Amino acid sequence: MATSPETAEPTAESPAPRRPAAARKVTRHRGEGQWGMGHFTPLNANEQFKKDDDGLNVRTRIETIYAQRGFDSIDPADLRGRMRWWGLYTQRKEGIDGGKTAILDPHELDAEYFMLRVRIDGGRLTVAQLKAIAEVSEEYARGTADLTDRQNIQYHWIRIEDVPAIWRKLEAVGLSTTEACGDTPRVVLGSPVAGVAEDEIIDGTPAIDEIQRRFIGNKDFSNLPRKFKAAVSGSPRLDVAHEINDVAFVGVVHPEHGPGFDLWVGGGLSTNPKLGVRLGAWVPLEQVPDVFGGVIGIFRDYGYRRLRNRARLKFLVADWGAEKFRQVLEDEYLKDKLLDGPAPVEPAARWRDHVGVHRQKDGRYFIGFAPRVGRVDGKLLGEVADLAAAHGSDRVRTTTEQKMLILDVAEEHVDAVVAGLEALDLRVTPSPFRRGTMACTGIEYCKLAIVETKQRGRTLIDELEKRLPDFDEPLTININGCPNACARIQVADFGLKGQLVTDENGEQVEGYQVHLGGALGLEAGFGRKVRGLKVTSAALPDYIERVLTRYRADRAEGERFAQ
Ligand code: SF4
Repeated sequence: MATSPETAEPTAESPAPRRPAAARKVTRHRGEGQWGMGHFTPLNANEQFKKDDDGLNVRTRIETIYAQRGFDSIDPADLRGRMRWWGLYTQRKEGIDGGKTAILDPHELDAEYFMLRVRIDGGRLTVAQLKAIAEVSEEYARGTADLTDRQNIQYHWIRIEDVPAIWRKLEAVGLSTTEACGDTPRVVLGSPVAGVAEDEIIDGTPAIDEIQRRFIGNKDFSNLPRKFKAAVSGSPRLDVAHEINDVAFVGVVHPEHGPGFDLWVGGGLSTNPKLGVRLGAWVPLEQVPDVFGGVIGIFRDYGYRRLRNRARLKFLVADWGAEKFRQVLEDEYLKDKLLDGPAPVEPAARWRDHVGVHRQKDGRYFIGFAPRVGRVDGKLLGEVADLAAAHGSDRVRTTTEQKMLILDVAEEHVDAVVAGLEALDLRVTPSPFRRGTMACTGIEYCKLAIVETKQRGRTLIDELEKRLPDFDEPLTININGCPNACARIQVADFGLKGQLVTDENGEQVEGYQVHLGGALGLEAGFGRKVRGLKVTSAALPDYIERVLTRYRADRAEGERFAQ
């Protein structure tokens, strides 16, 4: 049964979609499809299929029909729409080159296999959960299991017939794929060292748990204008890319009220990147879920639904401004005023990823380690789980930099865990190239991709390690397979946007448009797209080596490569 705004059942915790505010003049945004302005008629195909049936309802059809009858039985509106509500996307057919990405009917790019995303809120995993992820990978996903830059794990080669069994296996250990994709509240990012780091300002874990309980899989919030990304971290290292989330809670200390969170809204990258803005409000831990509810409520009710490329919260925030956004949040949703509060402080540490060996506040240690560009597999994850368990740890974490951590290692086990990780080619003291390079899925599996990314990233790291063995400064190299920004190209020192470029023989080959000098942090900014600066994939190591060599030759006293 469709859950339209008119039929959704309100609950005490989740108010019904709002009706037009009596005094609000709505003429300017008439036609943007904002429910809060009384515009409920779907204005595009996506809004129509969401109105026809709630994406969450597709699970029953997957279990009772599609998994029994196979790929060809899947309703197209489910296949390319609602299945995302359960973390499923069709993957790219093998052997179709990047030049065809833009010209073929997208349906011709569909393989009969799926990518399946497992949401890992806060990046938190037990050993049993990591083992289950590994076993699903080996049994159903041809061994694939990539770490994403939103703390999730993604499988490929998933057959629809196997999806119910995969859910059973994941859900038995408390994992889920619910709303891992789609126009929904996506995974809530959290500090991988929440509750353990010595320098922590505040542990946001209880707020993440409560957000999950109240808002994930809740049909009051399962038809948003587009995806809704959230982050909660009390780490002074600013370790969850809060600047590019729809809503983010960043640990700060209020001079009178103590530790809490600074509220940011409206960040997002993709083809119209915007950094989040501060609302100047301080939120205590126990109020975080309510404020999350208010911001997602504004998005549901006032977010633009006419054009998909204007449907993210960032466009509403840009049009309203911080002051009006805060006022609507307080007056219409929270029915209370928020306290004013301070901004976060620029962290002393320049890496945000927690890689290395670090003492916890309880005297034990956490150990962060780096695979290459998030490419791991089921076998390797199983080995990480076994290593953690063998040394008394039951907690593993994923990061927003495609890295991982093992927590709670007693001092006498640290050396053995480090040696075990290094033996698996998971570096605890990686080169800056391995540490700072990320890559999106790319043409291997992604239907939107124009170029290959994961293998390119891995060989780039190996090449740079060979050519510049003594380069030791933090830097970021983010490789994307198309103009979207899944690997955050705009906020990297080297942002590489995949496209076809012309080589020296006049041939169209895989390559990248280069964006230089982007950064996250309190001096966050987007990289400059250098006009005409495109490199072929083959020439990428030469190009980066050239830039870094010239920088080192010319740098002034105290100058750093990255901001
Ligand atoms: Fe696919 Fe493009 Fe995202 Fe890479 S950036 S995963 S190629 S959509």
